[in-house]
Amino acid sequence: MVIILFGPPGSGKGTQSILVAEKYNLMHISTGDVLRAEMELDSELGLAAKSYVQQGKLVPDDLIINMLMALVNNLDKNKKGVLLDGFPRTVSQAEALEQNFAQFGKKIDLLIDLEVGYQELIDRMLLRGEQTGRIDDTLETIKKRLQVYTDQTIPVKTYYQQLNKYLSVNGIGEIDTIFNQISSHIDKLK
Ligand code: ADP
Repeated sequence: MVIILFGPPGSGKGTQSILVAEKYNLMHISTGDVLRAEMELDSELGLAAKSYVQQGKLVPDDLIINMLMALVNNLDKNKKGVLLDGFPRTVSQAEALEQNFAQFGKKIDLLIDLEVGYQELIDRMLLRGEQTGRIDDTLETIKKRLQVYTDQTIPVKTYYQQLNKYLSVNGIGEIDTIFNQISSHIDKLK
């Protein structure tokens, strides 16, 4: 099973991904978490990514696609599949994923979109910035990330809608309520 958890920055993908990965025994791959770990280590990839992340821009597709493919092609055999969180974020990334999976006889089952309005997203990320000091959770960078989402990431929705693999969930409400809605979409796949 391969599920994509999709949505704007601040929509709660990370929170929900942890719950979904646990419930369905999926390997959780968060490109944002991997990048933050690499930046912490000052690795080659971390250093290459840092200025983009800090400015609220996307890390270039070639870097991200190589990073992601290395992860998905090296899956934990005890897991029942993969939960992608923060990838794909551009149509090129979606196409690369599709091509790579086709080679290995794998396919994406579903993209679930967490829908949250603009002001709520800003409020959530400002709060997270205060609580965690995340370098990209400042007002200016948050606005830039939302603009990048509109320009470069929204087209990924259309891509999966055309493949009939798109479903959405209201991302405002109790964590458990949202999780139950996501779960009911996944349960229909079985
Ligand atoms: P959020 O969804 O709240 O923006 P993430 O942790 O998913 O948080 O991502 C943080 C940053 O990492 C993004 O703003 C971007 O710079 C980079 N990043 C994460 N995933 C990708 C991706 N698939 N392609 C390009 N850049 C990415």
